[in-house]
Amino acid sequence: MKIICVGRNYSSHIKELANEKPIAPVLFLKPDTSILQKNHPFYIPHFSSNIDYEAEVLIRINRIGKHIQAKFSHRYYEEITLGVDFTARIVQNQLKSNGLPWEKSKSFDGSALIGEWFQKNEFENINALSFNLKVNNRVVQYGNTSEMLWKIDDLISYISQYFTLKIGDIIFTGTPAGVGPISENDVLVGHIEDRQAFSVKIK
Ligand code: ZN
Repeated sequence: MKIICVGRNYSSHIKELANEKPIAPVLFLKPDTSILQKNHPFYIPHFSSNIDYEAEVLIRINRIGKHIQAKFSHRYYEEITLGVDFTARIVQNQLKSNGLPWEKSKSFDGSALIGEWFQKNEFENINALSFNLKVNNRVVQYGNTSEMLWKIDDLISYISQYFTLKIGDIIFTGTPAGVGPISENDVLVGHIEDRQAFSVKIK
């Protein structure tokens, strides 16, 4: 399986990192080794202690598809959750300023936190889902899928023009404003609407 991540999909987050608004979705990949094992803590990696959380809505692909039209995208996923795209920000900034790929900062072991999956039918409107991330019980990030520059159906369609989507592939749909650093002993809790998707300790 593969993980496809979308960068810069909320204008509020584009502003906070002083990035340009993209003319097409920004995509990058995480390998399967980036998945944080269930019920494991997140260990700050040896190569950088400057790690940001990025809370994101995730979907899991449930059938194979290529060149999917947006009007058919809803047929390609049934499950949704919240996750965290852990980012070694200083490493990423160095890579970006040198025009290099981001993988070392975004795709390292444990960098993909995936919450418990929910059936999308449990939610009234996929394009108006609120979600939030708490660090040590304080809300640090909140967003709503209605604020996405490219909606989930558009993303599936766009991504499938480049990468064949297969059963089990996961899409990270981008983060809203409020990204920030983690520290040892922090506890990160993610909610999508009123459902808790994860609770993870930082070590
Ligand atoms: Zn992200």
